[in-house]
Amino acid sequence: MTVSSIKDFSRAVTPADHIPWPQKSPSSCPISAVRTRLRLAGLRPTRQRMALGWLLFAKGDRHVSAEMLYEEALRAREPLSLATVYNTLRQFSEAGLLRQVSVSGPKTFFDTNVSEHHHFYNEDDESVVDIPGSTIQVAGLPEAPEGMVIASVEVIVRLRRADGGEVVKKVAGGQHA
Ligand SMILES: [Zn+2]
Repeated sequence: MTVSSIKDFSRAVTPADHIPWPQKSPSSCPISAVRTRLRLAGLRPTRQRMALGWLLFAKGDRHVSAEMLYEEALRAREPLSLATVYNTLRQFSEAGLLRQVSVSGPKTFFDTNVSEHHHFYNEDDESVVDIPGSTIQVAGLPEAPEGMVIASVEVIVRLRRADGGEVVKKVAGGQHA
């Protein structure tokens, strides 16, 4: 990674800006990129954070639940508890490295793409995928209450098999800045 790209990187560390993983530069090492990203987000690169950061960020954009990441860590022979995975995901989210996507009840996915975008949620296999492009336009949004602005609008389009009923749409207002 060059010095100039590090500068660009530090300027871009806000939840609103998205840097795809893995880094495009052929000379960059994914492990050092994870370490750099943690440091720039103000997180000490502990072994646990590095292990989970590697699992999360080395495969491009993805949506994982704490349980999914815990299973991956077990398969990678990382001795982490589910509580540690939850805590680390929460820390990453608070630092702006992940964006939370709540799809139903307590079910939460963590998205490595922190830019504003919309999702399909497949109720049959409980998977979350991005809706490609920016084809959604939300009309008729309410005025924000006085002194407030709308930070973001997230659309979750819930899917189920066509022979099991119709597609239900749900609009969820997000708190993400
Ligand atoms: Zn997404």
